Amino acid sequence: MNTIPLTEIIDPAATCSTCAACCCQLEVMLITDTGVPDRFIDTDDWGGEVMLRLDDGWCAALDRDTMMCTIYEKRPLICREFEMGAPECIEERRGIATAYR
Ligand code: SF4
Ligand code: SF4
Repeated sequence: MNTIPLTEIIDPAATCSTCAACCCQLEVMLITDTGVPDRFIDTDDWGGEVMLRLDDGWCAALDRDTMMCTIYEKRPLICREFEMGAPECIEERRGIATAYR
């Protein structure tokens, strides 16, 4: 089976330092315990644990001044696996292009 080289999937121009933390508006399910503090945890309609999102849509653990994660060392598995420059990342950046700083 042929595999696509990583360099053809990842867009090197898309970096978190030029992004308004677009992916931190997505719903993040907590599927493993990484030590996320209780105050940042919400329950979804099905009883599952998710990251709490505030009225502005962003994750409660995101610092609104720096647009950086305040619990980086304890961030959920899904956040760890969301790859900068991958197709999902590009899609999120496109959706919120006006928020880039
Ligand atoms: S959408 Fe991509 S570039 Fe933006 S913060 Fe998330 S991983 Fe980084
Ligand atoms: S836990 Fe951190 S990396 Fe994950 S969505 Fe929230 S602010 Fe973003």
